[in-house]
Amino acid sequence: MRRDVELLILGGGCAGLSLAMRLAQLGHRAPATLILEQRPRYLNDRTWCFWGGEATPFAQLAQHQWPVVKVRNADQTVRIDCASTPYRMLAAEQFQAVAQAALMDAPQLHLQMDTPVLSEPQFHGGRWHLDTAVGQLTAAMVVDTRPLQMPALGGALLWQSFYGYEIDCSQTVFEPGCADLMDFLPANPERVAFTYVLPISKTRALVEFTVFAVAPLAADDLAAELNAAIAQRVNGAHFTVLRTEHGVLPMGLDRSASGWAEFKPAYVRVGVSAGAARPATGYAFQRIQRWAAGCAQAIAGGGWPIGHVKDPALLWQMDRLFLNLIRRQPELAPQLFMTLFVRADSQKVIRFLSDCGSLLDYTSIILALPVKPFLQQLFSAASSGQSLPAGS
Ligand SMILES: Cc1cc2nc3c(=O)[nH]c(=O)nc-3n(C[C@H](O)[C@H](O)[C@H](O)COP(=O)(O)OP(=O)(O)OC[C@H]3O[C@@H](n4cnc5c(N)ncnc54)[C@H](O)[C@@H]3O)c2cc1C
Repeated sequence: MRRDVELLILGGGCAGLSLAMRLAQLGHRAPATLILEQRPRYLNDRTWCFWGGEATPFAQLAQHQWPVVKVRNADQTVRIDCASTPYRMLAAEQFQAVAQAALMDAPQLHLQMDTPVLSEPQFHGGRWHLDTAVGQLTAAMVVDTRPLQMPALGGALLWQSFYGYEIDCSQTVFEPGCADLMDFLPANPERVAFTYVLPISKTRALVEFTVFAVAPLAADDLAAELNAAIAQRVNGAHFTVLRTEHGVLPMGLDRSASGWAEFKPAYVRVGVSAGAARPATGYAFQRIQRWAAGCAQAIAGGGWPIGHVKDPALLWQMDRLFLNLIRRQPELAPQLFMTLFVRADSQKVIRFLSDCGSLLDYTSIILALPVKPFLQQLFSAASSGQSLPAGS
């Protein structure tokens, strides 16, 4: 292992490995790179879902895909046809295996497992220095993907917390051609809650219980409602839990509280706590892929690594208005989502949710939503002069 390299990537998760794979494609033009990952080995601890056609990065590796997704609130159900850009599910283990194979063939890049970064990188003598479990390392450039310690309250307009089990049932239960994107629990003034079901076969599915609320929630806080949601789905069938997933994602991250916008030479902070997650949805996987392609290109061109591109102003304002509204009145959210999916063209909604929307798509979304609660939100925020976290 080299101790003085051109580029250090801190964290070999989704963002770190995505950039490493792009750099590996540069062959001999890739900088000498060390990726430091604290875990001794990778776990299949998450699945990444996204909408996309065949050309979408990692679409071909998806474990399963759905041509139809469903949204349900009370007795109303909307089925959304997404056959041209199916909803796809990529298992972390598959992604990690492909990344590790790419790195094996790239002599310029080295993935060092079981190596936590122990100190904050310091810049002196024109290089970055940091302490790790295997001693001090230096580099000309640093890409830092380590997630920040999230504050329990504040730091984001809302937190998306979810807990799920991948289960295998003793009898046929699921419809593998259709995923349940959001199956809302009754409207609640404290939080938005829904069940998310990704059926992989007639007997097997990932079932998650998700909450949007002002405070992040641990797996234990969500376990009882997850179990209730599964019991309702399996209708008495015996099932085995194959694996679990828990996540807490910021929705509308406060840039100043998380400190990721601070400028440092040849150093960039990226990943889910530095602008990778779309504020209104928490989807980050395809944003990370776009960033990784751009960052590798910048480095190949002799430049410094780059961070995530800021959202267009209109999208940022829409996300922020929407998050502020559901932060103040979570009980409105189920009906707002239903109205959006019923009234707006499904392809436009999918492009909007996937971050690939055009100005026309944004306009259609605005026109589909009921005007009154958004205007009330704008007026109440203006008249109360209340300051909320700045959002990403
Ligand atoms: C369970 C779960 C499911 C998700 N599902 C989706 C989805 O369906 N679609 C979607 O778009 N997004 C999804 N996301 C959001 C997002 O895509 C993921 O969180 C993604 O993994 C973020 O990538 P990252 O590189 O920022 O963080 P991570 O993938 O978490 O990588 C950070 C890495 O840094 C390492 N690390 C931390 N500290 C140190 C240290 N001191 N030294 C060395 N290494 C360190 C960690 O071990 C980790 O490997 C999901 C998130 C979770 C948690």
